[in-house]
Amino acid sequence: MEIYQKIKRKDHHSKTLPMLNKQILYPFAIFILFILLHFGKKYKAEIKEITSSWLAKHGYSVFSQPLYYKVPILCFHNIGGKGIYSVTGKEFRSYLQEIHKKKIQVISLRKLYEHSQKSQFFHQPSLVITVDDDYKNIVRVLAPILREFRYTATFFLYTQEIQKNPQQGTSWSDLQRLLQEGFDVQNHSHTHISFHNPRMFASRFLFQKRMSLEIIHSRELFETNLPKHRIWAFAYPMGYSSPELKSSLEKVGYELQLGTDGIPVDLRKPFTGIFQRYTIQKKTKFGRDRMFQNQLKYSSEKIPKSSSFENLRHRSFVSEK
Ligand SMILES: [Zn+2]
Repeated sequence: MEIYQKIKRKDHHSKTLPMLNKQILYPFAIFILFILLHFGKKYKAEIKEITSSWLAKHGYSVFSQPLYYKVPILCFHNIGGKGIYSVTGKEFRSYLQEIHKKKIQVISLRKLYEHSQKSQFFHQPSLVITVDDDYKNIVRVLAPILREFRYTATFFLYTQEIQKNPQQGTSWSDLQRLLQEGFDVQNHSHTHISFHNPRMFASRFLFQKRMSLEIIHSRELFETNLPKHRIWAFAYPMGYSSPELKSSLEKVGYELQLGTDGIPVDLRKPFTGIFQRYTIQKKTKFGRDRMFQNQLKYSSEKIPKSSSFENLRHRSFVSEK
């Protein structure tokens, strides 16, 4: 009876569809089909990811490919220099080899940002590479190794020491070249000194002046010296942040802020405006390599097939407490 009613309704609907509507509707449907076939090919992976992420969130899994929801962001510094944050060229290459061997795709920070905004998962284990500070070797040694592997990266520089003819650090033309090669360059303040809270005995006026130098003046320098390049992300110097710094950065238009707490981005959770990164340090006997391996493991965590998204979200909130 129910089926009969459904069919009847359908018939009634098609009979009442005016001829004029059909004339418009059919060419329109063919046009849409053509668009889907044309762009569908180009954005096949993207469409699949959007659809399956949406379905996974509602507790369904339709595609046989697994979905990955944790994305670590690695933070490198100098290469071949002094200090615990500098790795040798050989070490840097071994990190990239490890990523390659484990078939983890290296995506851009922007792509991760866009996925996070849409709570869209990946069909492949993924991670992001970032490089901080203003060292000469990042352009001359580190970037060419990244290019060998065809890996993209975002370079976070502080503007105070970027010069025309540098002795130690980078020049504006170096950064221009990085952009032309497809890397991204973003802001890491002007002086690289912590400024997230007022200094002792400093006036409110001085604090705000300082804030403006670090987050607005530095961005102006970037955008004047790298024409047509947009600064949209800010990495806290030494990872120091405060609620006031966060709201100031949002107020002046930064879309993303980056800390160094080592927690991977979890695409099941709502976007908060901040991503955390894992800082790579010189390899020592005390488990540095194990910590790097843990980051790679995060990127390989899959959404369990039969779990509903709400359950997953609930579980992850519980484990945070
Ligand atoms: Zn730094």
